[in-house]
Amino acid sequence: MQLYTKILIGLIAGAVVGAVANLGGLVWLQNLLGGVEILGTAFINLITMIVIPLVVASLLVGTASLGDLSKLGRIGGKTLAYYMITTAIAVTIGLTLANVIEPGSGVAPETTAELTERYGGDAASRVNIAEQAPSWQETLLRVIPRNPVRAAADMDLLPLIFFTICFGAALTVIAPKRRDAVLEFFHGINEASMTLINWIMELAPYAVFVLIGSVVANFGFDLLQSLLVYTLVVVAGLMIHAFGTYAIILRFFARLNPAKFYPTVAAAPLLAFSTSSSNATLPLTIETAEEKVGISNEVASFVLPLGATINMDGTALYQAVAVMFIAQIYGVDLALADQLVIVLTATLASVGAAGVPSAGIITLIIVLNSVGMGQHVQAGIALILGVDRILDMIRTSVNVTGDLTCAAFIARTEGEDLGGVKGLAR
Ligand code: ASP
Repeated sequence: MQLYTKILIGLIAGAVVGAVANLGGLVWLQNLLGGVEILGTAFINLITMIVIPLVVASLLVGTASLGDLSKLGRIGGKTLAYYMITTAIAVTIGLTLANVIEPGSGVAPETTAELTERYGGDAASRVNIAEQAPSWQETLLRVIPRNPVRAAADMDLLPLIFFTICFGAALTVIAPKRRDAVLEFFHGINEASMTLINWIMELAPYAVFVLIGSVVANFGFDLLQSLLVYTLVVVAGLMIHAFGTYAIILRFFARLNPAKFYPTVAAAPLLAFSTSSSNATLPLTIETAEEKVGISNEVASFVLPLGATINMDGTALYQAVAVMFIAQIYGVDLALADQLVIVLTATLASVGAAGVPSAGIITLIIVLNSVGMGQHVQAGIALILGVDRILDMIRTSVNVTGDLTCAAFIARTEGEDLGGVKGLAR
């Protein structure tokens, strides 16, 4: 049985058991699922522990084996352009849907008051976190780590990627004897990390069962009702982007068959759905790209860690809908110029968001401020917080699918045939 089928079974079973506990009012089962959630967290820790060794080893080997450093510049340029363009498309889809469907227009004032009351405190603490976030200048400066070991210890991927690429580039020009010794070592680390992922993935279906079961068991279904239109608009936008935009890119730009591509990579987005974290999913994303799709290590090791940190189409799309929803509820009219500002800031905010659960709701505050909605930040966040977890799960899967689509696209433009899966190439 394929890994994605096993994960899917775990996911569906978890959702069913969680729903029975929740809707059937079985408090003991809800408590049990809440209690065993720790096993799911243990699994997330297990996969996250591979991230640093894998990213460093595979990126170092990838960069050093490029041979020609101009190739690195070319791949880097294409990847960044691709990430920015697809994110802007995602935001545009979100804005279009929010303008046409107007999810905020039908919400009763009592619902707004209730949500603000229920989530006001939690929203205040998020706003607090956002206020402590570093400025843009500091964020840019932090890409260059003073201490790469600290960057690794803090799981700060962007500076670590920067350091590793510089180091890999330097390796390409030193004496072959020394270079090969270093590369041989990191090759070993890379292979051992991949083996470890395969072992850990044996546990994935059970972990997913526990993670999804506890989320569903404790989910406020009553909230879903009052925020139904908003939730559906976000989900519809995410689906259009995942199965529309990406399918077009796969078919016409990467010259791959989308109907084969999606099932081939499915395990990674499913894990992203269950963990709400692009970072935690990263080892499986890399493994899927290389072993299932046949993307070279040079491309996958660069495009995917970068994508997990800066490419978040799902997050940006969700932010666009969320800003419009909050504006509609508070009667703030956002003109076309404001919406263009949203395209820009949501694209950049998603770059700034880390690949961890709920990061997107914190950077949403930047987007709200950019269109002069500062006074509605706290109440606005309180409105949407109740359904954020479920939307986080879906947008994270889209983020990861976007990274994989980009890797396939870049690999094809670099002349790779992606014969990893029979019939994948059109
Ligand atoms: N959880 C998302 C991710 O890891 C980020 C977010 O939208 O909150 O990609």
